[in-house]
Amino acid sequence: MSVAVIGAGPSGIYSAEHLAMEYKVAVDVYDALPVPFGLVRYGVAPDHFSIRSVRDKLAQTFENPLVRFRGNVTIGQDLSVEELQEHYDAVIYTYGASLDRELGIPGEGHPMSIAATAFVRWYTGHPEATDFGDLISRASDVAVIGLGNVAVDVTRILVKPVSELEQTDIPLHVLDALSRSAVRRVHVVGRRGPQHATFTTKELKELGEIPGVDVIVDSKDLPTDFAQVTDSKIVARNLDVMAQWVKREAHSDKSIHFHFYSAPKSMDLERGVLIVDTMTLDDHDRLVATGEVREIPSQMVVRSIGYRGEGLPGLPFDHNTNVIPSTDSTIIGLENSYVAGWIKRGPSGIIGTNKKDAVSCVNTLVASRGESFTTSPNAIDQLLADRNIEVIDFAGWKRIDAREKELGNSRGKERTTIHDRGELIRIGQGL
Ligand code: NAP
Repeated sequence: MSVAVIGAGPSGIYSAEHLAMEYKVAVDVYDALPVPFGLVRYGVAPDHFSIRSVRDKLAQTFENPLVRFRGNVTIGQDLSVEELQEHYDAVIYTYGASLDRELGIPGEGHPMSIAATAFVRWYTGHPEATDFGDLISRASDVAVIGLGNVAVDVTRILVKPVSELEQTDIPLHVLDALSRSAVRRVHVVGRRGPQHATFTTKELKELGEIPGVDVIVDSKDLPTDFAQVTDSKIVARNLDVMAQWVKREAHSDKSIHFHFYSAPKSMDLERGVLIVDTMTLDDHDRLVATGEVREIPSQMVVRSIGYRGEGLPGLPFDHNTNVIPSTDSTIIGLENSYVAGWIKRGPSGIIGTNKKDAVSCVNTLVASRGESFTTSPNAIDQLLADRNIEVIDFAGWKRIDAREKELGNSRGKERTTIHDRGELIRIGQGL
């Protein structure tokens, strides 16, 4: 049996690992990018060294001769869903959720209002990223909307001293732009309270440990009795962290301000403000507007309100939930096709969540497909060659890996990310 996996992020690689190790099945892992690892490379913040190092473990999967990396191949453009169906016994879609979500408020279309997904792509060196160097050189106050871990990452990268980022693999042009940044204050804006935030304590706590940066929380926003508002240990620990911050004296020239119960209403970025409705909880714990409208200074806004999946031509897609519809990882309405990760469940959970999900998807696939069929993935290589697609294989990734390490080593660090797609492809092809 041979299986195609679409998306070389954690879900895809964990699926390939389980297929090859547990069931000795041959797997081709496709990605539209010339490099593997998905959000481990283009989502996890560069200063989170230990989470980023997961990539070394993921890379081992490609050392298995049963697993091939087929990078720089876009499904729906270079190969169709129908062609995959024809050439593989089964296909697992694990291409994640890469689009951003919009607030739908006036002023959101201003050039100084951007999506966190785009900002994360920029500082991680994604080949299709927009350059935000100019924007951060013009904004002293930035509002980051959302109370999740992505909002925390964006906030930290915006205020962290560049000296603390130099040892990371952030591309050199991004490091240079951050060193010219005008940002002094980041306003983290949430429509609900601190007990409703989805960030995890380790990530939250890091904000209070950035040298030269104060964290400001209004004591009025914290519940008086933590136990009464939550039975979650994570939430209780988050509230403890914030309660410590309330006691601190502010003395630095950079700061992070939390604005809870502040629902974005509109933006007037020409005037440099985000306008919010002040919210409160009613007797039934429902969020209601108090009628008070406030302005938060911000020349730039980053909306960090979650990721969103997109469909592929020829694949069923649920436009309400932005996922591929499935039952027990089996795609509804398409034969021999399976789904795992964010494009199945939506954008939530940590890397480990995707491992469990991938294993369960593969077990379902093997239970339903069972035997070998008559497919010929090698014919697909010919098809791609006939179409002049510059496929990057794992040997190609190793060349890119070696070049990034060389580039980093020359500056006394482990690695520097190469962000230019053409350059990645040239190196990958050994040119
Ligand atoms: P998230 O945790 O779902 O947070 C989204 C935030 O956006 C929530 O605070 C939500 O508030 C807010 N929001 C949504 N719609 C809004 C609106 N219309 N107006 C105002 N606020 C709105 O998503 P995320 O931060 O993008 O993270 C995605 C996943 O990646 C999560 O599972 C996260 O833990 C994971 N991740 C982990 C790490 C890490 O472990 N270091 C780093 C990055 C990401 P409501 O709750 O009120 O809807």
